[in-house]
Amino acid sequence: MTVTADDVRAEVRAWLEAHWDPELGLAEWRGLLADAGWACPSWPTEWYGRGLPAAFDAIVAEELDRAGAVGTPTGVGMGLAAPTVLLHASDELKARLLRPTITGELTWCQLFSEPGSGSDLAGLTTRADRDGDEWIVNGQKVWNTSADHAEFGLLLARTDWDAPKHRGISYLALPMHQPGIDVRPLRQMNGRASFNEVFMADARVPAANVIGDVGGGWTVALTTLAHERRLGGLFVPRFRPDAAGRAVREAQAEAAEYFKTYEWYPQRAGRADLVADRARATGRAADPVVRQEIAALMATVRTAQWTAARAQAARALGRPPGPEGSLGKLAASHIARAAARVHSVVAGASGMLAGRDAPLDGMITEVMLSVPAVSIAGGTDEIQRNIIGERVLGLPKEPQVDKDQPFREVRRN
Ligand SMILES: Cc1cc2nc3c(=O)[nH]c(=O)nc-3n(C[C@H](O)[C@H](O)[C@H](O)COP(=O)(O)OP(=O)(O)OC[C@H]3O[C@@H](n4cnc5c(N)ncnc54)[C@H](O)[C@@H]3O)c2cc1C
Repeated sequence: MTVTADDVRAEVRAWLEAHWDPELGLAEWRGLLADAGWACPSWPTEWYGRGLPAAFDAIVAEELDRAGAVGTPTGVGMGLAAPTVLLHASDELKARLLRPTITGELTWCQLFSEPGSGSDLAGLTTRADRDGDEWIVNGQKVWNTSADHAEFGLLLARTDWDAPKHRGISYLALPMHQPGIDVRPLRQMNGRASFNEVFMADARVPAANVIGDVGGGWTVALTTLAHERRLGGLFVPRFRPDAAGRAVREAQAEAAEYFKTYEWYPQRAGRADLVADRARATGRAADPVVRQEIAALMATVRTAQWTAARAQAARALGRPPGPEGSLGKLAASHIARAAARVHSVVAGASGMLAGRDAPLDGMITEVMLSVPAVSIAGGTDEIQRNIIGERVLGLPKEPQVDKDQPFREVRRN
């Protein structure tokens, strides 16, 4: 029998009426949600799901919202770690990691980039050497958001130096709180510090924490990267204004703590939403050149929204991901840069001021200092163009001279 959207809505609504108790602790509530399969309804039934089509996730989220109930946590855990573990990890690892990730008790960071390998991620040189039941990890990662408070890291490390670069990498779940790990915050030009460098000196990982096959980490990493591209921006949890109770309070505190790292992310996206109001407030809206700049920006914003809506509609119909993901990522960085430029035209010299005396308490300056991040994070614009050229348009691949060489012999800095 085919399950319809109405069936799902009725079932989750009845379950929530019977089980939602705002006075439960947050982890306890999310545990109930996970065990009933409503935390991740599109996951398999044996792993906290109900095996429903992904299109029904939105219906369940709507019903949670209607009941004033809390859902799964936002962030790297549910966004990147959980889908990667679900697809590639052993059953033992899934049993150990998935439930506490859903309840928010286990938090994660991504340990992929290194000083010498960002775009060329497969050139990474952090090493993991087997020692009995453990891997010993040595190396350095960089630009690692939330590494200062995560419990676990999604770590890519080289375990075979004689295999070609893509085939000697393993993917490990690294316990972050141990003596071999030193996390140092990095200060950005906008004054924030949301990234870290992570130094690993004889850090230890249980052998059972390898996600996927030893040497097969690249395939696993592609899953994480696909989810990262798909996520695009931040998922901001909504709380109904009248939602109350212990679980809601704890979720609000969790979200507030989590978003401290991301407070500047709206500015890095360019704040195109403020441009027209700023032009009116400063009298610049009467200038025909400024009006044209704003109109061009808003037209781009609108077309990007339509592309995103098309992608969402295709997903709801169960179609495979199309080119919209890469196009959307590229459009986001184009919009961010264009919005920063229009803000600077509208603000004039005052846009260079920082602090509370500056326009919008210094937000315009923060926009200008933050937008370069969009063109870099999660794969640079140039890399997105390569992906579109090769995978969407079917153009010839970029030559890779070191693809089949043993990594030990590959020239690197
Ligand atoms: C906001 C933000 C958050 C991040 N969060 C994380 C995180 O949590 N975890 C993590 O591991 N990393 C994170 N990163 C790192 C990010 O993934 C890398 O910065 C990114 O992949 C680029 O690598 P790179 O900085 O080494 O630049 P490089 O790879 O050195 O690139 C330098 C320049 O060369 C160009 N280039 C490189 N290769 C090619 C090519 N083949 N063709 C054309 N042009 C090319 C690039 O486009 C770029 O302009 C984050 C970065 C930012 C900005």
